[in-house]
Amino acid sequence: MKRRSFVAGASALWLPSLARAQAPLAPDPFGLGVASGRPLSDSVVLWTRLLAADPTAPLGGSFPVSWTIAEDERLQKVVRSGTATAEARWAHSVHVEAGGLKPNRSYWYRFTVNGVASPIGRTRTAPAGNERVAALNFAVASCQQYEQGYYAAWRHAAAEELNAVLFVGDYIYEVSWGRDHVRKHGTGRPTTLREFRDRYALYKSDRDLQAAHAAHPWIVTWDDHEVANDYTNDISPTDPDPNAFLAMRAAAYQAYWEHMPLPNAMQPSGSAMKLYDHYRYGDLAELHVIDDRQYRSHHSCMVGDHAEPDCAERLDPSRTMLGAEQEAWFASGMKRASARWNIVVQQTLMAELDRGKNGQHKFWEDGWDGYPAARRRLLDAVAASPVRDTLVVGGDVHAFWAADLKQDFARPNSPTVATEFVGGSITSAGSPDKDFQAMLPNNPHMKYVRSRAYGYGVVSLAPRTAAVSFRTVKSIKDVNSSISTLARFAVEAGKPGAVPA
Ligand code: FE
Ligand code: CA
Repeated sequence: MKRRSFVAGASALWLPSLARAQAPLAPDPFGLGVASGRPLSDSVVLWTRLLAADPTAPLGGSFPVSWTIAEDERLQKVVRSGTATAEARWAHSVHVEAGGLKPNRSYWYRFTVNGVASPIGRTRTAPAGNERVAALNFAVASCQQYEQGYYAAWRHAAAEELNAVLFVGDYIYEVSWGRDHVRKHGTGRPTTLREFRDRYALYKSDRDLQAAHAAHPWIVTWDDHEVANDYTNDISPTDPDPNAFLAMRAAAYQAYWEHMPLPNAMQPSGSAMKLYDHYRYGDLAELHVIDDRQYRSHHSCMVGDHAEPDCAERLDPSRTMLGAEQEAWFASGMKRASARWNIVVQQTLMAELDRGKNGQHKFWEDGWDGYPAARRRLLDAVAASPVRDTLVVGGDVHAFWAADLKQDFARPNSPTVATEFVGGSITSAGSPDKDFQAMLPNNPHMKYVRSRAYGYGVVSLAPRTAAVSFRTVKSIKDVNSSISTLARFAVEAGKPGAVPA
């Protein structure tokens, strides 16, 4: 704080002349915080976005933003620095690809504009390709409806020792829903670029969320609420016209890119944005980050948000979740994989969950259960990998789950291909816990569920075991809530399946 006010104070002497020449920046132009992401072994993306003095009037023009990355938290051992341009067309966001870094170590970074310094963020590079790595820790998080709770979970996640945060979707919510709101969006459903930007700015104004971004690099994918609830490819249930929907999707994707620590190469082009990606963490893990929204087949056999019982179309082998190109990319990534663990980073629950009662089958249409042939192909690719051990992590369902992913869910004795963990939700309300508990007997591959508990998962990898803990805050209605561990699991290398630990 001292350093920052000193810098700001010193610059005040000459700031007014600059301010006259350009649209005025907010007194704290870095009010949305700083972030880092896409950690590779020699580079990382550094992010921030400049705020205008008048939040109701968009900032015009462009601003030179200097950046510094250093080996120490006081920024004395500077390894790289430079100047990026924050442009109006990208909402004055800055996405610096800081290269020339050493593998598997922490770095600290800071931005400066017009003599005003940002908070200092910490990040961490991935280990080098074949580096022997003894341990890795990742948080898995999703679903942070702003109105339903405070982000105390993020304050605790910031304090965890992590290599990266894996955020698997529903970073913003486009709609207000749920009960007992602690705060309000204050605006309706965003449909324009300006409105999506404002929604991200609101979410990113939260100090606990900022702390988690400033503490760890994030690896991100999206789910549906970044655009519209339950959208599939070029339509959503409330937007059946693809032309209108794709115009909105273009705005939503652009705002997403603008607010995430993603590289310039991922900038959207029209309504398309290639988000799926691959990361290597030395000899211990490869992360395969997928996008199951942009390219998927439309819902089939919908009755409400469930599929009709025994609907033939649901089983149609041509139905896709990833699209042909991404599916081929995933299969070849699995074939070429060579680290100790594969981690599939994706948005929803992958395991089959029959929600029916009394011998009737009922499947939730928007998850992988609406696309069983696509799930089968994905799990076949996982089974064909030379790497025996694969974990799937997910979100979306607002509950903690541990599950065995079966080659054939209809046969409980069929091989377990991979182990799945869904890391709860940060604040978004889940269905009543008793409803899920009642489903367990019909779904023997489901090893654990807990709903109406909020937080994130931590996956700790070692060569012989993966340990997973589910971390939950006491109350999402308390900004200062404490956190505790709800459940622990272990997966032994060579023995896929979730075992309580
Ligand atoms: Fe959600
Ligand atoms: Ca979702």
